[in-house]
Amino acid sequence: MERQVATKTTGATDLAELIAEADSVVALTGAGVSVPSGIPDFRTPETGIWANVDPMEVAHIDVFRRDPAHFWSYYRPRFHDLGDKRPNAAHEVLAKLERQGLLDGVITQNIDRLHRAAGSAKVVEVHGSIETSSCLDCRAGYGLEDVDALFDGVGVAVCSECGGSVKPDVVLFGEMLPAAAIEEATRMAEAADLMLCVGSSLAVFPAAGLPRLTLDTGGALAIVTKGPTPYDGAAEIKLEGEVDEELAAVLAAL
Ligand code: ZN
Repeated sequence: MERQVATKTTGATDLAELIAEADSVVALTGAGVSVPSGIPDFRTPETGIWANVDPMEVAHIDVFRRDPAHFWSYYRPRFHDLGDKRPNAAHEVLAKLERQGLLDGVITQNIDRLHRAAGSAKVVEVHGSIETSSCLDCRAGYGLEDVDALFDGVGVAVCSECGGSVKPDVVLFGEMLPAAAIEEATRMAEAADLMLCVGSSLAVFPAAGLPRLTLDTGGALAIVTKGPTPYDGAAEIKLEGEVDEELAAVLAAL
């Protein structure tokens, strides 16, 4: 994708100051942080990964239980596609901020593992991750690279221990969010002096609720996201450029 050379605003400098002054900074990231890695935002019309498919038809837990071959016909290629992706500058800046003691951790809605791949140590994945899959019957766990060997003749991942059905450890439509991750994300949001929201429209739970927790406990918000969010009016800073370029400028200004 061709990109315009962005003119950097004073916004990045202001955000760098906010980060430097805060005692506790937590990042909250959504699909937009992985767009520069070549992973389209599923809500982007036409180009989104759901553009040609009804997500409720494939990525729903009921579909997985009723027709796992149909589920995997969609999800297996996605596994391969996501598994090849690499972190971009936005992921790398967040990992560097953590190493420099300027960021406590990342709460992410993404399942793509890219924050960990970039070197972030504290990552709370509220929608799970493609890193592992589990047997629904005996709970045997499989790494991403091991799942391919489990597929039977009709394209269903079958547990090599018990013959049960193996499901990615990601939250499908119709599934509960992982309680431990939500608890940890809540704790981090409440403890943050500054929540740095990156690449999320902050429209869908739990991302829609976490910034409110930070505000209610006296913290501030900064938003680096294209397009409007419900929290734009409450944020100290809103940056609308490419997330990788904006965060690189913030790091340079620190
Ligand atoms: Zn099993």
